[in-house]
Amino acid sequence: MKRVAVVTGTTSGIGYYIASYFKNEGYCVVGIQRGKAKHVDLNIEADLSKINTIPKIIDTIDDHYGRIDVLVNNAGKMDFEEYKDNSTVDLNMVMPIQLAEIAIHYMEDGGHIINIASISGITGDSELPIYSATKAAIINFTQSMAKRLAPRIRVNCISPGFFNTNLVEGDTPAELIEQVPMKREADPSEIIPVIHMLQVSTYMTGANIVIDGGLSL
Ligand code: NAD
Repeated sequence: MKRVAVVTGTTSGIGYYIASYFKNEGYCVVGIQRGKAKHVDLNIEADLSKINTIPKIIDTIDDHYGRIDVLVNNAGKMDFEEYKDNSTVDLNMVMPIQLAEIAIHYMEDGGHIINIASISGITGDSELPIYSATKAAIINFTQSMAKRLAPRIRVNCISPGFFNTNLVEGDTPAELIEQVPMKREADPSEIIPVIHMLQVSTYMTGANIVIDGGLSL
């Protein structure tokens, strides 16, 4: 039986490359997102800001594979009108926590959960307090779960800075790029070496790896 990697939000950006990494490593990749992802083995279309989609997601994974080796909680949104409803909290915080709590029951020893947070979860962001709070929660959830699940299952986190993806409409303003010591945004493919390092570093758990070109320094 092949190992199974469940990755949320694989249609674009960072999640696309995370799914590609696990596919190249020989995993069956389950992609969960709103649109259709062509490069995964099992595509589950779901609005992950709706908690009532969980039973359908789990039933589908159960029917096809009945196991999970890796869960990557990647799907997320950054909405400058984040106060209008609870969807930022539900998508960025509640759903990753719920999926992790369920996934551990499908994991054997050696399982791994990787959460995608943000440097906003460390530094805060005056324009995006709810987004930042959800990411801070995910960093802290990573630590709690790492303590609870070791040594059976590892739980780690990645906090990106500016990546060139569809997260925000339009280009990142030049004055923001100028604040990055590396003087550029990351290409979303630059997530791959970080995923690989976490995957092969079997003594790492509870870590939050910052990849931000030095922005949070
Ligand atoms: P993206 O918009 O390119 O990709 C987001 C993915 O999530 C897409 O596959 C989309 O279909 C999916 N998604 C969004 N809302 C959904 C919903 N309601 N239900 C189901 N799927 C949904 O953005 P990205 O930059 O690749 O973002 C990936 C993660 O990285 C997010 O958690 C984001 O907060 C985090 N992040 C990104 C940056 C950045 O600069 N791009 C910085 C810090 C953190």
